[in-house]
Amino acid sequence: MTHVVVIGAGQAGAALVAKLRNDGFDGRVTLIGEEPVPPYQRPPLSKKYLLGEMALERLFLRPESFYEEQGIALRLGTRVDAVDTAARSLSIGDESLRYDELVLTTGSAPRRLPAAIGGALPGVHVVRDLADVDAMAPEFTAGRRVLIVGGGYIGLEAAAVAAARGLKVTMVEMAERILQRVAAPETSDYFRALHQGHGVEILEGVGLDHLTGDDRVTGARLSDGRTVDLDFVIVGVGITPATALAEAAGIAIDNGIATDARGRTSAPHVWAAGDCTSFPYRGGRIRLESVPNAIDQAECVAENIMGGDKDYVAKPWFWSDQYDVKLQIAGLNSGYDSVVTRRGEGSSVSFWYYRGATLLAVDAMNAPRDYMIGKRLIEAGRSPAPEVIADPGTDMKALMRP
Ligand code: FAD
Repeated sequence: MTHVVVIGAGQAGAALVAKLRNDGFDGRVTLIGEEPVPPYQRPPLSKKYLLGEMALERLFLRPESFYEEQGIALRLGTRVDAVDTAARSLSIGDESLRYDELVLTTGSAPRRLPAAIGGALPGVHVVRDLADVDAMAPEFTAGRRVLIVGGGYIGLEAAAVAAARGLKVTMVEMAERILQRVAAPETSDYFRALHQGHGVEILEGVGLDHLTGDDRVTGARLSDGRTVDLDFVIVGVGITPATALAEAAGIAIDNGIATDARGRTSAPHVWAAGDCTSFPYRGGRIRLESVPNAIDQAECVAENIMGGDKDYVAKPWFWSDQYDVKLQIAGLNSGYDSVVTRRGEGSSVSFWYYRGATLLAVDAMNAPRDYMIGKRLIEAGRSPAPEVIADPGTDMKALMRP
C-alpha cells in the first residue's frame, strides 16, 4: 500500500491530506507536526484571537476526530529530525519511518532579534505559533507600553490589537516607510494615518539599536539615539522559509525548497508546498507567504501524487484586518511603475498598480467590490485604462463584460 508522509501539520499539510482522501486516495497517510495541537489557521493569531474575540477551537481547521475518521495518522508534538531520500525514510529520534511519497510542508520561521542586542530577553515576542501568542496574551493589559519592531502586516495587525485594547503603542520601522517592501506609498500613507488616528506612534526611518533590561526587557535605544521605556516588545521583521530539513537531505534550495510546476523537489518522490517553497511563476520563481497559496499549492500536489499532471498556477491574493478596515490584495505588484487611486465612500479606497498599460495588482481598503473585480481582471489578463479606474462614475461590473 502506498504510504504518503507529510512533514508539517499546518495550513498546507492539512489541505494536502484532506484533498488526498477527498479524491479517493486509499493508501496510508501520515501527517507529522511539531506543534502539540491539530492544524490551525494562523491569520487570527494577530487579529481576532489576539483580541480575545475568537475561541481556540475555532482556530482549528478541522476537529481532531476528522483525521481519525479519514484514516489519517496525525502525529502531533513530533519533530522530524532527518530525511534520507535514498532509503526513502525519515527519522524521528531513534525511530525510522518509511515513505513512498514524501511532502514537505514545513512552513517558515520568524526572524528574531540577535541576543547580542537583547533579542533573547524575556518580554520579547514573535508572532508565528499559537504558543507565541498564548505567551504574549497576558502582556496585553490596558495602559502597558509595547514597542513593535517592524512595520509590515504582522506588526501593524499586532499594533491595531494593542491599541484597541488600550495599550500605548510605539512602532519602529527601519525603512523609510511602513509596508515599504510590499506596498506603494499610497497604501503606507493610508495605514499610517489609520494607526495614528488610533494613537499609535509610528517612527519611520528609525531602527532599533538595542533593547535594555536585566531580568526582562524594560527599554530600547533607537538608531536616532532616543530611548523608549516599555513593558514588552513584539518583533515583526519577516520570516524565513523552513528549509533546513530539506537542505540537510541534499534537496535543492532557492529562496525556499525549489519545486517544479508540479510541486516536485529535486529529490525523487519528494514534494513540497506552502510557505517553505519557491516555484516557477511567469518565467521566474517566487515564494509566497499566504493561506491561499498554501492551500492551492498543496491541493495541486495532492492531485499530482495521485497521478495527475497538473501545473500549479498561483493566483496571488491576501488580506489583512486592522481596526475596522479590511485590506484585500489581488495580484503581485512587483515591477509596478504607476499607481491609480479609486476613491469610494468614507474609508473605502483602492490603489491599482500598473506596469505600463498592464494591470498588476490591487490594494482595496474596505472596497470589496474593487478587490473582486480587480482580481478577476488580473486573472483574465485584462487591463482597463487607468483613467477608467480612477473615474468614480465607472460601473465596475461593466468592466467584466467581454
Ligand atoms: P505553516 O502553517 O506554518 O505550517 C508549517 C508547520 O510545519 C508548522 O506547524 C511547523 O511546526 C511544522 N514543522 C516544521 N518543521 C517541522 C519538522 N521538522 N517536523 C515536524 N513539523 C515541522 N496569510 C494570509 O493569507 N492572510 C493573512 O491575513 C495572514 N495572517 C497571518 C498572521 C500571522 C500571525 C501569521 C503567523 C501568518 C499569517 N498569514 C496570513 C500567513 C499564513 O498563515 C501562512 O502563509 C500559512 O500558514 C502557510 O502555511 P504552511 O502550511 O506553509 O506553513
